[in-house]
Amino acid sequence: MFRTTRVPRALGAAPRAVRCAVLCGLLTALATACGKEGSPPTKGPAADELPHYRVARGFRLPGSRTWTRAHQRGHLVVGVKEDQPYLGEKDPATGTYSGFDVEIARMMSASLGLPPKTIRFRTIASANRETALQNGQIDYYVGTYTINANRRRLVGFAGPYYMAGQSLLVRKGENDIHGPRDLAGERVCSAAGSTPYQRIKGDYPKAILVAYDTYSVCVDNLLTYQVDAVTTDDAILIGYAAKAPGELKVVGRPFSKEPYGIGVPHGDNALRFALDDALEAREKNGDWKKAYDATLGLSGVPAPHPPAIDRYPAS
Ligand code: GLU
Repeated sequence: MFRTTRVPRALGAAPRAVRCAVLCGLLTALATACGKEGSPPTKGPAADELPHYRVARGFRLPGSRTWTRAHQRGHLVVGVKEDQPYLGEKDPATGTYSGFDVEIARMMSASLGLPPKTIRFRTIASANRETALQNGQIDYYVGTYTINANRRRLVGFAGPYYMAGQSLLVRKGENDIHGPRDLAGERVCSAAGSTPYQRIKGDYPKAILVAYDTYSVCVDNLLTYQVDAVTTDDAILIGYAAKAPGELKVVGRPFSKEPYGIGVPHGDNALRFALDDALEAREKNGDWKKAYDATLGLSGVPAPHPPAIDRYPAS
């Protein structure tokens, strides 16, 4: 039996509002062309609304190979996402990155004695994070990266600095999907190499799972009726919903715990512990909350208490 929410797959048959959202591209700097009143801007906050992070003077971390190399070259190379509203977004016009994860990356750079404005950001997809850290492509990674035991065998994690939970994003007119149990026979999209993808595959095998490199492609597929739901962390989905409030909604309660960590090369315990110290200090001095309020807080969720740092033994 067909649902009322199902329409032919061709974009040409989609409602006008949907076509507008897709054609304008949720994540391009041209979003204002859609003329949607009341939508938050696509670009991140203005630079003067963001905290200024004091750079640690005379900081040294000779026990860290990663820090030593970064210090010699004069800047850090940090892996992030570029299509996750309020978390990690790249302005296609200027190449500037913004969002909560980007702010975490910047405050960590300041604590490591390297001015945040010197950071070279690299966009790395979920499936490529471990390899990027293992082969030295990046010094650390800040991008909705869940700490778990499997990944800890491959990389190190400082933090956590934020606690998210897996949730579901659907079209506004969808009335039958409220939680993961309702996904049986439905097309659900997630990012390859992510924990939400793995959880649906393992725990909800009746769902028809579709994987792409990024969640923004999943969201485009949702808007054009190619899939029925997108699943990943609530923090990410709330951002997409806030950008297209007339088209999309987040449903149900989070059904996992996703503690976000800063990925570091495996075995660089000196860097990991320095980042743990830095996170703790930035939470205490108010920078963490200021950064949250200027980024992820814009999606409407007030700043939570950051989770306790898990300073696990040297590995
Ligand atoms: N936090 C989850 C993960 O690390 C989903 C978000 C993401 O893919 O970055 O897999």
